[in-house]
Amino acid sequence: MENTAENKKIVLSAIQPTGTPTLGNYLGALKNWKKMSAENDCIYAVADLHSLTVRPEPQQLRRRTLDMYAILLALGLDPEKNIVFVQSHVPQHSQLAWILNCCTQFGEASRMTQFKDKSEKHPENVNVGLFTYPVLMAADILLYQADYVPIGEDQKQHLEITRDIAERFNTVYGETFKLPEPYIGKAGARVMSLQDPRQKMSKSDPNPKGFISMLDDDSVILKKIKSAVTDSEAKVRYAEGKDGINNLMAIYSCCTGKSYEETEKEFDGKGYGDFKAAVAEAVIEELRPFKEEFARLTADKAYLLECMTAGAEKAAHRAQRTLNKAMKKSGLFML
Ligand code: ATP
Ligand code: MG
Repeated sequence: MENTAENKKIVLSAIQPTGTPTLGNYLGALKNWKKMSAENDCIYAVADLHSLTVRPEPQQLRRRTLDMYAILLALGLDPEKNIVFVQSHVPQHSQLAWILNCCTQFGEASRMTQFKDKSEKHPENVNVGLFTYPVLMAADILLYQADYVPIGEDQKQHLEITRDIAERFNTVYGETFKLPEPYIGKAGARVMSLQDPRQKMSKSDPNPKGFISMLDDDSVILKKIKSAVTDSEAKVRYAEGKDGINNLMAIYSCCTGKSYEETEKEFDGKGYGDFKAAVAEAVIEELRPFKEEFARLTADKAYLLECMTAGAEKAAHRAQRTLNKAMKKSGLFML
């Protein structure tokens, strides 16, 4: 049977243009975006509205938004078959977010760990946007009636609150939103910082040695992995207390498909130097096709803008259907 649009699952995800995506973003989320794109009805966004919560420099935000768009296409996403767009081009996201704000309790939003983490990181700018971030994220997802949301482990709590908000709206006003499921891969769901393996790798980390950017040169990747924090045991094995090595083993496994057991055998009797060189090589090979495609795409800005415009139109059309439903159900006077 032909896989028609009607029986495909709807997949929605987004990434903030807060910097070049890291290996963590790639293994935790973007790799799955690509994997799911052929079989499903996929909708992917550059979440520029979310990134305003950390007040980026305006010119930098504009440049990073275009770059992030090119990065998504360079993953191999097909802008004809999938919807790839920039969040602020589709005003329905902000409109639904307001309605959902009124269905979210102050107490439940206060329990979000990302709010606590980011407030600590930016104590000079703890804005209300940072607080309602998960509500905007709920709007992103619910507008498209998504079945699955491919995310890293760190966003699991936000997906749970999305489901709670949707369920509450449906109970109060009647069935409106589909309850989405997270899609979190096994390995790679939480790639840790190379410098502090107890913290997640983040593209907004002020120390670039902590993360590998998807566009880092091969020599930089090698250098960063060589200087990754490990332990003094000098034995490649996956075990409690070996956070640095566990992290490198997870990265190696994602890039090569080898299990932890196979890796332990492969490096039996060898030191961390050999292992790190192999991890670096695997990462470099994994990112190579993406980097080549990115270079090709950024040379064609007209094409990127054309795809961006078409993506926004398609997304807005879909989003408006759900927004109308939510407005009507909640009693807003419709013309
Ligand atoms: P920021 O520090 O600006 O929040 P970020 O690296 O956390 O940047 P996001 O744009 O917030 O990136 O998240 C994009 C996607 O990447 C989300 O699905 C998120 O769960 C995933 N992700 C982020 N960091 C990691 C990580 N260290 N390991 C696996 N997945 C991750
Ligand atoms: Mg984040």
